[in-house]
Amino acid sequence: MEKPTFEFIVKNQIGPRVGKIRTAHGTIQTPCFWPVGTVGAVKLLKPSDLIQTKAQGMLANTYHLMVGVGEEIVQQNRGLHNWSGWKKPLLTDSGGYQVMSLAQQRTLSEEGVVFRSHRNGEKFMLRPEDSIRIQRSIGADLCFMLDVCPSFGEPLETVKDAMERTSRWAKRNYQAFQSIEPKYGFEQSLWPVIQGGTDVQLRKQSTQELFQWTTLGFAIGGLAVGEPKELMWEAVVAVNETLPMEVPKHLLGVGTPDDLLTAIGLGVDSFDCVLPTRNARHGVAFTSHGIVRVKNERYKEDHEPLDPNCNCECCRTISKSFLRHLYFASEPTAAHWLTIHNVYYYSNLLEQCRFHIQSGTFVKFCETTREQWNQQQELTDRSEQ
Ligand SMILES: [Zn+2]
Repeated sequence: MEKPTFEFIVKNQIGPRVGKIRTAHGTIQTPCFWPVGTVGAVKLLKPSDLIQTKAQGMLANTYHLMVGVGEEIVQQNRGLHNWSGWKKPLLTDSGGYQVMSLAQQRTLSEEGVVFRSHRNGEKFMLRPEDSIRIQRSIGADLCFMLDVCPSFGEPLETVKDAMERTSRWAKRNYQAFQSIEPKYGFEQSLWPVIQGGTDVQLRKQSTQELFQWTTLGFAIGGLAVGEPKELMWEAVVAVNETLPMEVPKHLLGVGTPDDLLTAIGLGVDSFDCVLPTRNARHGVAFTSHGIVRVKNERYKEDHEPLDPNCNCECCRTISKSFLRHLYFASEPTAAHWLTIHNVYYYSNLLEQCRFHIQSGTFVKFCETTREQWNQQQELTDRSEQ
């Protein structure tokens, strides 16, 4: 079986990079964005819709698949690619984020995490070994190690404990990954998740300790959890300074289009976030002219496309006035159209980043893009006063 690989086209330690992650289900061009399909589908999109958005891969969630359906059902269907109909690359996060987001309904010990289902009180044990076994059953191309993700604002001692436990668990994740064979005849790769909160020294220590276990790349976890942006970027820089240049890095749960430009500028290669899909369901669009709230009165008679610079199916087919009308008629296709647009917008933004990094014009591209976003923002602010 061919191993997943990563190869650079433009290489920088702290600076924008372009590369390729080869997986059994296709090659990902980096920097790349993974739309979130928590239970195996991006909300409101079929696989064919997702392909239209130029999404290169989809992120699914180990915890939610385990609790929602169980690994046996996924395995009976020969993995999530086959079961969901999404044939392109799949990434699964490990359940580590749920250690933080479901803090009220879990107990954490050295052995693992016990979650109590919010639906029926049933208990689920998730140890590093379970997370890996489930990710083998899901058949994700890129798997993440089970980590311990602290919330922002926890005492330094708690952040340090979480980081150290993440390091100890890394060995168990790795050993489980080595001892459980891939189930569907293709190779998967396993990425450690760096912790350490916003403490630069802990981030560096976490990166160094996890480096021995990587088979391809790294995830940076525990950020975008409420900390000020400057602290997030300091932590990212600390990781990038510590890692060898050749390793791809995924920044978990980030972010806005503006965050993506900043992170790419710092040398991050890969992202996932619920923002484009969640905002679409609330009528909030990301466009080349900034945020557009399509339910705004000012779009009632606006018969122009949502984003004249966008080539997605939504912008090619309907106007802002029709999109607004669908939202007010509580028509589910409203959010469907806007999800297509927002995910396409992210894919397209990163495609442009790759082009400009290779052309040596990335800094200028970021300046121009931000200026355009701000122009619309000023217009919107004035009209809403
Ligand atoms: Zn569009």
